[in-house]
Amino acid sequence: MGLIRLLIIAVIFWIVFSALKDWLNRPSQPGRPSKRAGGAIEQMVKCAYCGLHVPESEAVRADGRYYCSNAHRDARSRHG
Ligand SMILES: [Zn+2]
Repeated sequence: MGLIRLLIIAVIFWIVFSALKDWLNRPSQPGRPSKRAGGAIEQMVKCAYCGLHVPESEAVRADGRYYCSNAHRDARSRHG
């Protein structure tokens, strides 16, 4: 019965494909600790000093502006 075998192969392909799709859609980046699920796409903010885009949760906020690091926040405030 070749039809049953074909059906089984089709099901296996479907499982592998959906698993692969799920893996590709994963937002976690290599080298960084993955955040808790349930969060939407992270808002990206621009560093007011160098213009680098960083996730809002990792950005340093001061005077209503965002910075990529404490060093850039200090560098900006030192200039006035
Ligand atoms: Zn910066």
